Amino acid sequence: MASIYDLSFQDVEEVLKGKGLKPFRARQIFRWLYDKRISSYEEMSDISKDLRNELSLEYPFSVLSVKDVQISRDGTRKYLFELSDGCLIESVLMIFDYGYSACLSSQVGCNMGCRFCASGLLKKQRDLSVSEIVLQALYIQKELDKEDKRLGNIVVMGTGEPFDNYDNVMKALSIINDPFGLKIGSRHISISTCGLVPKIRRFAKEGVQYNLAISLHAANDELRSSLMPVNRAYPLEELFDALREYAAGNNRRLTFEYLLLAGINDREEDVKAIKKLFQGLDAYINLIPYNEVKENEFHSTSDANALRFYDLLKKNGVAVTLRQKKGDDIDAACGQLRANHMK
Ligand code: SAH
Repeated sequence: MASIYDLSFQDVEEVLKGKGLKPFRARQIFRWLYDKRISSYEEMSDISKDLRNELSLEYPFSVLSVKDVQISRDGTRKYLFELSDGCLIESVLMIFDYGYSACLSSQVGCNMGCRFCASGLLKKQRDLSVSEIVLQALYIQKELDKEDKRLGNIVVMGTGEPFDNYDNVMKALSIINDPFGLKIGSRHISISTCGLVPKIRRFAKEGVQYNLAISLHAANDELRSSLMPVNRAYPLEELFDALREYAAGNNRRLTFEYLLLAGINDREEDVKAIKKLFQGLDAYINLIPYNEVKENEFHSTSDANALRFYDLLKKNGVAVTLRQKKGDDIDAACGQLRANHMK
């Protein structure tokens, strides 16, 4: 059954119209949900009792129940939520110099099978619904409310492949972005994909201004296929064709994520290959220190080598950033907290 948090602003207008009510009431309802951030229908004091009763039967209130919270020395907070069917998901609140950022999950588990990733340790159980995605952001905003702080950024980089749950992710983001919803600006929202080419093409035509990030992690097909099985279905040439199409239709800079795995993808030849891939593309690469996962054999590149790799990319004219490490004293790697709880 759909929850009230599954509905977009337009959906609420339609529901109201269907009841012979004025659509402007949708504004009131959204204000209660996303500005006042109430926790039950009873609190909607300017909505008639009859309408509240009807809505609560048709679109019940739903909440995420928090099972565990880990707080890192740097302030990163990782939440483990239990869904109504008992599934567990994770969300992370990160504090950057530019503000608060929430990392949301898009699926329960993941089927992409990237070798280095803890999320893939547990196969996908199901997609998250729109409300389950929206509620992650709302929960985190409610936590920040206690300190009078505002959530400024959303990254869909938690467990799951967002483009494998395309419709729900896009609808949830539209609610998060909506001027009557959570009001987080498009340019403060990022979606990260491992490279599902047909969905990249679809996204290119969507006409939204969210940032698109691609998990690259290797710049030649052999290595990328060995790390990320998705590369066998959509090798680099196809991926970059789709990205060029996206770039041509959207005036947006692309972000590439690149985990630094010691001795695997941090060599000089990797710099050359990255440079070649990026030719003619407005893109930058974000080097990410690897959060080690004890179930696999990968290690993070040393700080010194990471700096060397960074410098080399720079010298080769590649736009590059080195991501700040967050929450490395907690189960910060995607899926780690959940995996540890399910054992
Ligand atoms: N499926 C999407 C989004 C979720 S993963 C994607 O692949 O982009 C978000 C990012 O975290 C990806 O770049 C992923 O490769 C990276 N990641 C996975 N495991 C990690 C780890 N142990 N340490 C650091 N980053 C990791």
